[in-house]
Amino acid sequence: MADMPTLDEFRDEVTAFLDANAERKADEVKQFVWGEGSDDVSLFEEVDRAKELEDLAKAKAWRAKRYDAGLGWIGGPTEYGGRELPAAYDRLYASLETKYHVPAQGFFGIGLGMVAPTIKDHASPEVRADLLPKMYRADIVGCQLFSEPGAGSDLAGLSMTAVRDGDEWILNGQKVWTSGAHYSDIGEIIARTDADQPKHKGLTGFVVDMKAPGVEVRPLRQMTGGANFNEVFFTDVRVPDTHRLGDVNQGWTVALTTLMNERASIGAGGSGSGMGLASITRLQQLCEHFGVSDDPLVRQQLADVYINFQVAKYNNQRAMDKIKAGQLPGPEMSIAKLSLTGNLWRTANFVTDVLGPRVIADTGEWGTFSWGQLLCGVPGMKVAGGTDEVLKNIIGERVLGLPKDPGIDAKTPFREMLKN
Ligand SMILES: Cc1cc2nc3c(=O)[nH]c(=O)nc-3n(C[C@H](O)[C@H](O)[C@H](O)COP(=O)(O)OP(=O)(O)OC[C@H]3O[C@@H](n4cnc5c(N)ncnc54)[C@H](O)[C@@H]3O)c2cc1C
Repeated sequence: MADMPTLDEFRDEVTAFLDANAERKADEVKQFVWGEGSDDVSLFEEVDRAKELEDLAKAKAWRAKRYDAGLGWIGGPTEYGGRELPAAYDRLYASLETKYHVPAQGFFGIGLGMVAPTIKDHASPEVRADLLPKMYRADIVGCQLFSEPGAGSDLAGLSMTAVRDGDEWILNGQKVWTSGAHYSDIGEIIARTDADQPKHKGLTGFVVDMKAPGVEVRPLRQMTGGANFNEVFFTDVRVPDTHRLGDVNQGWTVALTTLMNERASIGAGGSGSGMGLASITRLQQLCEHFGVSDDPLVRQQLADVYINFQVAKYNNQRAMDKIKAGQLPGPEMSIAKLSLTGNLWRTANFVTDVLGPRVIADTGEWGTFSWGQLLCGVPGMKVAGGTDEVLKNIIGERVLGLPKDPGIDAKTPFREMLKN
């Protein structure tokens, strides 16, 4: 590209933008000290709706500033407001931004990490031109409407129907566990368009307007106390055919695009952030504070937690190197996600062993009851974005070359398969 800045020029540009628009964090890295600052270690942030809306407005304002300065979609096509710069520029921006206080951007993880790449690959040129700039500028937020009460791991078994009516489709059915549906403007949905085809073949993808008549979003309260996701009911919701993703009955391919991006974004961010969350220093100081740091069994368990996080980090680096080299991340992402949840689980168990009843009794003591948020959040992480068991099947089959899982539709009972 003729006018591609060098990385140094780009660094100057980003630094100037950040200096002008955000407050720089103090230079020295603040060491963790037991009893100081926040003791929050939650995986799912619990905020009330009013605070959430306030945070969303700040997050949107920040993304809009970035986009207007030409930094909203660094790798994206210029026709949609992107810069078409290589991934190294994106990474450089991300690393520079961490040095500044900017509003948390978690609201856009699903929309930009999963829905937008699918729209880019499968939507009509008009819909791409309309929605992608709005998504990257955070004028609109997207959610993923895949899971249903009877279809999660077995996504292709979904029941939501879409029936054609002239230039429109009429959608009926229910989705569930839809993260962020309550603040989303659009959703990527997969619906059944031909019940006579084998289940993977009768599906079609659409982009739906979350504010359209007939869409009802009901929050679901999880055991951590908050309500991060929802049930979404569709009653005669009309979607224009222009908002179809891919060809009719090719929705499985569309869904796979999204799921691959989902695993890549959880896995890529995951293994590293997990260690930040429950940093080894925090665990070490927890042991010292409660006088168990000389206990050989505790030391062994702590070393085990540390080693497993390190192994996950190296595996993650391997996947990142593959992406850097222009290859698609493969089973490493399933391993990364599985390692992340395993390590969070290991951490939660370790902390529970050290704290005992303090983890379930709110005495107001710093750094004790707060761990309950991690403990109650880990099971959700083990399910979201592919359950541990399903990921193990993927690793078994695609990495280790084991025989295929008989699956839910197996004609031959599992016991019979074992005999052969
Ligand atoms: C925090 C969180 C956020 C989520 N956000 C979204 C979202 O935004 N949008 C969305 O569409 N969905 C979302 N989901 C839903 C998620 O994708 C599903 O929960 C997941 O796919 C599992 O489906 P299920 O809950 O129906 O469980 P099931 O598929 O019914 O699984 C039940 C149990 O059976 C096991 N199992 C199933 N199949 C097999 C097999 N072949 N071999 C071995 N064991 C198996 C599973 O591992 C699990 O333990 C979210 C879930 C969570 C926890």
